[in-house]
Amino acid sequence: MNTEWETALSDRGGATCELCGGSSDLAAHFVPGGAGQDAEAHILACADCRDRIEAPTLDASHWFCLKQSIWSDVPAVQVQSWRLLQGLPNEPWALELLEQAYLEDSVLAWAKAGATGGSQPDSDASPTLDANGTPLADGDTVTLIKNLDVKGGGFTAKRGTAVKNIRLTDSPEAVEGRINGSVIVLKACFLKKQ
Ligand SMILES: [Zn+2]
Repeated sequence: MNTEWETALSDRGGATCELCGGSSDLAAHFVPGGAGQDAEAHILACADCRDRIEAPTLDASHWFCLKQSIWSDVPAVQVQSWRLLQGLPNEPWALELLEQAYLEDSVLAWAKAGATGGSQPDSDASPTLDANGTPLADGDTVTLIKNLDVKGGGFTAKRGTAVKNIRLTDSPEAVEGRINGSVIVLKACFLKKQ
């Protein structure tokens, strides 16, 4: 922590990790995709959190701290928390928190900007379209337009079932969503955006 903004960041975090409150080996962690610079674009994070940001599912219970940090006043902390929650699609508490969390539009746009990740521009990737040809995005709510047998789930997802907070997949024809507690792959052509 040398430069002026690093000092400001350290002060903002109260010399504790802005995610988990830990204090070991704190350093600035860059949160890509935002318009801000310096302290605005970084969070103060401990070594443990910084390591786990690379592999959020390794020990999901570590991220119970996000239940606090998602409500931070600091946009960069909100964005990092939101992205980490998005990285835990198999954790019911994480999905619940995503539904409860409120991010300002500009903060949510930032969070989503990085969510597609990487430096690869995906403008030439085919968009994922619903039954009406409406583009789908991560976090959308869709309804099923036909009954779907869930293979392995042992149940039929009824036409009209709403699926919240879908996630796009590598294929433009499929999205992931949670029905009856199971994350399943849904064909986009059987969905309608709400
Ligand atoms: Zn931490």
